[in-house]
Amino acid sequence: MDWQDEVEWCLRLWSSLRVRTEDIPGGEWTLEGIGMYERTGTQQMTLKEIHIDRAEKGEESSLFDHHDYLATLAGEIGWEMLLDVKKAKTHTEEFMIPEERIGDVTICSKKCGTVARIEPITVDQQYYKLTGGMCPVCGEKGFTKDWHDLHVVIDDRGAALRSMKQEEE
Ligand SMILES: [Zn+2]
Repeated sequence: MDWQDEVEWCLRLWSSLRVRTEDIPGGEWTLEGIGMYERTGTQQMTLKEIHIDRAEKGEESSLFDHHDYLATLAGEIGWEMLLDVKKAKTHTEEFMIPEERIGDVTICSKKCGTVARIEPITVDQQYYKLTGGMCPVCGEKGFTKDWHDLHVVIDDRGAALRSMKQEEE
């Protein structure tokens, strides 16, 4: 599809959705691999859910780029794209991000220098699932039980410094 087609396609789709009122939620539009948008105004769509699997390190696709592109495209035709993300999920499961633990930080017990942090869901952030407590950087079981299977933000700067230092030695 060229740009013109894409614009027309989006416009047709969005225009056919119900507009949110005080009592009734707006119509939903799911864009595969990106997320779910709700029609929140006559010419307004709001991203409510993120749909993407970024559990594997190295496979991060830039959701923000896609949303940003869409927002630009929408802007051209007089529509507004807002962000109000409350939920994120992969193909198979919803992200595990316990609200009450946002801000919690821990480090990989295998001393690879990796820091894991529980952060709220945003569109321009990468999340990794600590499957069975496995560290996405060193591949060891470096996280305690209360961190198992949570979706976290990984800070691997410490790990990068460490491997740089090892190369020098
Ligand atoms: Zn590690």
